[in-house]
Amino acid sequence: MVSPELFAPSDREILIRFRHVYKVYRIAETGVVALGGVDLDIAPGEFLAVVGPSGAGKSTILNLIGGLDRASAGSVEVDGHDLGLLGVDALTRYRAHRIGFVWQGTARNLVPYLTVRENVSLPAAIDRHDDPGRRRDADELLRLVGLGERLRHTPGMLSGGEQQRAAIAVALANTPSIVLADEPTAELDSESAATVLDAFRAVNREFGVTIVMVTHDLAAARAADRRIRVRDGRVLHEGASVEPMGDDGRVRLPDEAVAALGDGELEAEVTADEVRLRRRSETGHA
Ligand code: ADP
Ligand code: MG
Repeated sequence: MVSPELFAPSDREILIRFRHVYKVYRIAETGVVALGGVDLDIAPGEFLAVVGPSGAGKSTILNLIGGLDRASAGSVEVDGHDLGLLGVDALTRYRAHRIGFVWQGTARNLVPYLTVRENVSLPAAIDRHDDPGRRRDADELLRLVGLGERLRHTPGMLSGGEQQRAAIAVALANTPSIVLADEPTAELDSESAATVLDAFRAVNREFGVTIVMVTHDLAAARAADRRIRVRDGRVLHEGASVEPMGDDGRVRLPDEAVAALGDGELEAEVTADEVRLRRRSETGHA
């Protein structure tokens, strides 16, 4: 097994640091362990993809980085500050100034009756402590994500991919150092998804912003600089092998393969040297 030090960023250049992070949700008398001891280092300017099956704890990791939630145990540090030690007001300021969010569906990202230009200008307009020096020019941001010709459109006039690119521009408006994206391409066809990934890459290059993107999408995961897998509330280190056959005789596919196959019933064809899996909908069998 390769030692984690070989691919973790070195100490000097860590922006986000998880140390033995646990998150337990209480439901009635029982606890649900969403994270069971996560250690994770993310370098400034990194574009990281977080992959793993549903319920693995991916969104929980984003919520902790974004200060939307607090760890039950362990520490989440950003720039050397332990988020667990910040008071409510300091955490709110941290979220407003350091973090940009891009969610899966547009409804949560954009105000429907404002133009995309107004949407990008909104975070500064409602921030009482706004410092014009910290604000980015809305039109420039929209040009960077390929929406220079759509400034006066409202979200309803845009395609799904354009809406998500507008959401990226909104997320960048307040010069955050970290952008968190939860399944940002999940509702898009692959062509639109590619334009959204290009937009993430463009803002990453232009501003050096750190991007943490949860995704089920194989192409999206490939677009990032690095991928980590989360399973059962733990981070599996990159390069760690997955035992193909469990003691129970079940075959475990890598997460990428599961993502590529998608939901629904599969059909297996066993030959002498391989097993082919196909979606039943593609084989034409009932
Ligand atoms: P993922 O994003 O990988 O699908 P989540 O981080 O949303 O997974 O959830 C991890 C686990 O924690 C799941 O078992 C989920 O049901 C549970 N969980 C998440 N949020 C809550 C909550 N607010 N209350 C109770 N359980 C939760
Ligand atoms: Mg999730």
